[in-house]
Amino acid sequence: MYFFSFTHEGQNAIGLKTKNGNFNFSIALDIYQQSQGTKQPIPVTFLQVLVEMEFCSNEVANEVMENAWVQAKMGELRVAPDVCMDLPIGRPGKIIGVGRNYKNHVKELDHDIPELPLFFCKATSSLIATDQPIIIPEWLDTRVDHEAELAVIISKQGRSISEADAMDYVAGFTILNDVTARDIQKEDVNSAHPWFRSKSMDTFCPVGPGITPADQDLDPHNLDIVLTVNGEIRQKNNTKNMIFTIPQIIAEISKYMTLLPGDIIATGTPEGVGPIYNGDIIEIKITGLGTLTNKVGL
Ligand code: MG
Repeated sequence: MYFFSFTHEGQNAIGLKTKNGNFNFSIALDIYQQSQGTKQPIPVTFLQVLVEMEFCSNEVANEVMENAWVQAKMGELRVAPDVCMDLPIGRPGKIIGVGRNYKNHVKELDHDIPELPLFFCKATSSLIATDQPIIIPEWLDTRVDHEAELAVIISKQGRSISEADAMDYVAGFTILNDVTARDIQKEDVNSAHPWFRSKSMDTFCPVGPGITPADQDLDPHNLDIVLTVNGEIRQKNNTKNMIFTIPQIIAEISKYMTLLPGDIIATGTPEGVGPIYNGDIIEIKITGLGTLTNKVGL
């Protein structure tokens, strides 16, 4: 089960994907509130859900969907199985990347294993949703790589968060492709410049398809990650092989900056990164999180 964003009759809306199909969760929430005798403005983006309603929960989703008033309207709440999904969280405050977090990926790029998590930033203007195209500009004729990653969505504001408390700040999980202009990144690494432009080009941050709540029965430190290009497996690993765990990453970065609801942390990519070209179809699957699909080029 995961939440997703979509457009319903010209308005933003939140959907829920379950084994029984896709449903309009914004309308279900409205009906549920009427059944409880409360009436609040219904959030239409996931960032609003996190900020105003302070939930991202399997338990709440089940309570809403199993409500008798909601059940009576299930037919009207159905959304097409091939509904076009928007950015799961809209435009978050920041996207934090973690570099070199799987040993074999560190080796393939010939670097040393880091002693602390290595952070960089991706611009939020680089975000695209599932099924939207990755565009490599015509002038860029050097290598661009895929990087399959588990991404964490922050639920609430926090600073100096302890490892013990870190998972209380996680709303849920999604899939992120940390698309990287590799040769430009190498130029910057060699000149001791930050890895910013190579990671932040427009369309270089596909995210989605939705957000799987953290209270779902899934261990984020034991999820299979598989990336295929045109159906051929290029990356295959498991999040148990991350060097730094999610609590370690959150504790370390929150020493330096306040984490805000909706912030995205990409937890690093395993080995198998490689170049992508116009016409390629890139699919990333992570256990319990669905499939993120993006074509390269229009
Ligand atoms: Mg990466």
